[in-house]
Amino acid sequence: MSGTGVEVDPTRARRAVPLTRREKGWVAVAAAAPVVLVALVLAPVALFTSITFGDVLGAAVVYGGLLGLAGGFVATDRLQARQCPRCGQRHPRGTLACDACGYDLEDRPRFACSERHVAYLDRWGDGRCECGRHLERLPEVRGVGPQVLATVKIGGLLLVFLIAMGVLLNVLDGRL
Ligand SMILES: [Zn+2]
Ligand SMILES: [Zn+2]
Repeated sequence: MSGTGVEVDPTRARRAVPLTRREKGWVAVAAAAPVVLVALVLAPVALFTSITFGDVLGAAVVYGGLLGLAGGFVATDRLQARQCPRCGQRHPRGTLACDACGYDLEDRPRFACSERHVAYLDRWGDGRCECGRHLERLPEVRGVGPQVLATVKIGGLLLVFLIAMGVLLNVLDGRL
């Protein structure tokens, strides 16, 4: 610390601790829900158009499956974001600081030397990288970026559009 002989090494950034069974359950729900949802939304279509239930199931598996992959990915990221990156303790959403180690969960500071060798979660005043260079604060990183979430949303809209077009074409086809 301040030269009094107490040396605390900066904490290296670590990988997220594995999800619990319960958390894995939530990921499974997030991954499966779109398949069920697409099937439910399309079921009436099969009743009123020449689209068969087989087509509906196929579409549910393909499009719902794609959305489900994204859903599972986002759910995993959100659950891991609730862990303290320094000690792995889990917290409710919106917790400002880890009650186990005091890490700032709101700003999630990260540090590295100018060569970006290793990412650290603190620097204890005069922390240094293992190469000996001073640690500097890294720009903020936040799990899944807004771009990814936007992409998922656009994917969802595109799916709705495709389904609507498919239904429309099918209906028109029946009329002509
Ligand atoms: Zn902690
Ligand atoms: Zn370094």
